[in-house]
Amino acid sequence: MTSTTPDIAIPEEAQGNVVLTNVAQLLDPVYNWARRNSVWPMVFGLACCAIEMICTASSRYDLARFGMEVFRATPRQSDLMIVSGTVTKKMVPTIVRLYNQMPEPRYVLSMGACASGGGPFKEGYNVVDGIDKFVPVDVYVPGCPPTPQALINGLIALQEKIDQQSIATAPWYRKDDPTADVVPIPVLGPDLVDLRQLDIIKAEAAKAQAEMAAEEVETAEPAA
Ligand code: SF4
Repeated sequence: MTSTTPDIAIPEEAQGNVVLTNVAQLLDPVYNWARRNSVWPMVFGLACCAIEMICTASSRYDLARFGMEVFRATPRQSDLMIVSGTVTKKMVPTIVRLYNQMPEPRYVLSMGACASGGGPFKEGYNVVDGIDKFVPVDVYVPGCPPTPQALINGLIALQEKIDQQSIATAPWYRKDDPTADVVPIPVLGPDLVDLRQLDIIKAEAAKAQAEMAAEEVETAEPAA
């Protein structure tokens, strides 16, 4: 075996007997092989898509082939959140809380039109148009509902994504781990408030208040 590292010359007579690598190149395939074949999804479903997810876990489709048959009943033992179904505003705080409780490395698969973009309920007063507004999504599976085969295709896409990750650059091992921060849990009030957008919301509210005050002054002036 010869090295593909361009800046290290190997004498011709030694080629075929030398392996040049680094720790990451050596470990990555093993590290990723173990992770990609033991992704444990969370027992968690929201609407009709969940029925297809449950079906995918049945013997007919045999998720054990992918090492994914161990659905966990707690986020603390789960690697994968499959958001399967319509995401209502009432449910978002709970979904974000569950996501925050999952350990790294963790992944999110958005299953179906509803989870990815609101689906047929997009214009509904109580539905959010995509769970990716609140938690980072790794794989989107289209369909209404996606078939078990489509979900399996999405799971294979996730495995391919895991294959591309390196133990040397994985964010959860970095000192400045960008995944360490918890996602703020949205507040459910008259409408859903995403706390990350609080500054924008405050600025817009102040602007609206100023406009209303100006209008009131304008309408009051002729009477005076
Ligand atoms: S995408 Fe279709 S099948 Fe899935 S939850 Fe929405 S309406 Fe139901």
